Amino acid sequence: MTIAKKIETFIAKSSWIRKMFEEGARLNAEHGAKNVFDFSLGNPNLEPPAKFKQVLRDTADSIDTGLHGYMPNVGYPHVRRAIADYITKEQQVPVAENEIIMTCGAAGALNVILKAILDPEDEIITPAPYFVEYNFYADNHGGTLKTVPTQSDFNLDIEAISAAINEKTKAVLINSPNNPTGQVYSEKDLNRLGQLLKAKGQELNKTIYLISDEPYRKIVYDGFKVPSILSCYPDSIIATSYSKDISIPGERIGFIVVNPQAPYKEDLLAGMALANRILGFVSAPALMQRIVAMIQGASVDISAYARKRDLLCEGLAGCGYEFVKPLGAFYLFPKTPVPDDVRFVQALQEELILAVPGSGFGAPGHFRLAFCVKDQTIKNALPGFKKVMENFKA
Ligand code: PLP
Repeated sequence: MTIAKKIETFIAKSSWIRKMFEEGARLNAEHGAKNVFDFSLGNPNLEPPAKFKQVLRDTADSIDTGLHGYMPNVGYPHVRRAIADYITKEQQVPVAENEIIMTCGAAGALNVILKAILDPEDEIITPAPYFVEYNFYADNHGGTLKTVPTQSDFNLDIEAISAAINEKTKAVLINSPNNPTGQVYSEKDLNRLGQLLKAKGQELNKTIYLISDEPYRKIVYDGFKVPSILSCYPDSIIATSYSKDISIPGERIGFIVVNPQAPYKEDLLAGMALANRILGFVSAPALMQRIVAMIQGASVDISAYARKRDLLCEGLAGCGYEFVKPLGAFYLFPKTPVPDDVRFVQALQEELILAVPGSGFGAPGHFRLAFCVKDQTIKNALPGFKKVMENFKA
């Protein structure tokens, strides 16, 4: 054996998204990319805002000496200040520069947080359906991910979370707007969750963190606003990035916000600064830090995603698909007409439609469509969606 047994197992079980990616490459080669309807990847198809490109050009042109060196592991002070000021306005909670840590995307942020808080065998509770990478992130730091069900509309099931908490629980990890369901949790539910964690923490005499993974915060529809967890629970930490709202996932830039009210804030911040370094990130990319500091509040045109959501929802409803209309993110998570979601997704593939089975998100009987694709892809795929549904219902 040349590689670790655990990694070998992980590769074998490797995510459905990856498998669909490989299948997509095969179908593209065989049928030509324009004839394949690929809804499998959450890779934003909108170009970054013009302001991003302008600031990138200006920054590159005006690059001074000494700007490519190491910096504090938590990031440049002026960048953290700009972000803290923006979060203060956005979330109506005063956040200071030293409560922000710059990271390599939201994935980097989550790994830094978990590295800093997990002891061996600690448990992290997350509502399913969920972003499957969480399993690997928990395992990276000796923890275990424990999933709990959600309501039928994918909202939080607070009782299920309550029943899952025990002395091993270190954190509850939520993701809103959600991948894969597009659900956005209400302020009322977040407050109830905060009260539950407070009560359970007192009962078990320990701190239970609430981690909120929010890379889709700005991608919301119908005037919806994502409530802030900072005002719902003091032991809360936000992990986020510019990957989805600025369409720059390849640039690996994101950040952590530690709740200013967190009782052990200083320990957390020191732990995370060290974690960023010893995980090998060292710091977030220097150039991207400088860029994002100058484009706070910018985002891609969210109305384009709203249009794609409506096209897909109206089209699929017309073909008899059942789903919860997403309030945010760019995913739709319909029910499959048969319990075997893998079989259903394979039938879609025969129509050159690529989707991911719900089993890949801990929710069999569903499938995920990422609608960050061209409008034409959605329109052209509808006859295939219709045919597959008719065949299953026949
Ligand atoms: N969290 C969720 C729910 C995601 O969907 C993704 C990416 O798809 C990430 C985290 C990772 O984001 P990033 O590219 O910023 O690391």
